[in-house]
Amino acid sequence: MGFIVAVDGTAGSGKGSITKIVAEKLNLVAIDTGAMYRCVALAMLEKNIKIEETGKIEELLQNIKIEFFDKDGEKKVFLNGEDVTKKIRTVEVTEYASPVATVKIVREHLVKLQREMAKSIDVIMEGRDIGTNVFPNADVKIYLDATPEERAQRRFKQNKENGIDTPYEEILKNVIDRDYRDSHRELSPLIKAPDAIYIDSTGMTVEEEANEVIKIIKDKIKNK
Ligand code: C5P
Repeated sequence: MGFIVAVDGTAGSGKGSITKIVAEKLNLVAIDTGAMYRCVALAMLEKNIKIEETGKIEELLQNIKIEFFDKDGEKKVFLNGEDVTKKIRTVEVTEYASPVATVKIVREHLVKLQREMAKSIDVIMEGRDIGTNVFPNADVKIYLDATPEERAQRRFKQNKENGIDTPYEEILKNVIDRDYRDSHRELSPLIKAPDAIYIDSTGMTVEEEANEVIKIIKDKIKNK
């Protein structure tokens, strides 16, 4: 097992942006586990599979291939050979990913893949259950949070830059609903691991947040 940094936290807390910056600066491979749940949700939507249809989900998981590629300095997500980087960020997929992530066989399958991905490389992996369930022995555990209003505002801005026109109120509702579902589900709910370092990023810039995480990781390496 290589060096593992686990980054967990609420929806829109900056996990994605921070993970990308830290990975680049410290030469770690960034793995976005949320994108994997989004891929399963997209595949289920396309095949019209409901979360109760366990048999169909099982069959789908056996034939699913999720890959990450770096292309033109950007991280691309491929589902069964198709570039779905944009498709997995739509409101429809975002809303379906959270109930899909409550399905036991989906979690088991993706957690297995996540553990395999980190077998022989140094990674920074972001999600909801990385420090609690996927890698309970991770070298560094970070838990990111900010007020729901600030997180919704960031998503709103990010969407605008990407040409997505969802009203702020709708994003805020989605952020609050997802947090509730993610932290109240039976399997691997979103909670801070007791040994994770909590960062409240309300009022912080992405750079400030990333620098704080880098400092924590460097301190950990020094004291190893
Ligand atoms: O992080 P992101 O918002 O892309 O994640 C999409 C959804 O996937 C989350 O709302 C959550 O329900 C689920 N998820 C999860 N466990 C992870 C990562 C994401 O349950 N490790």
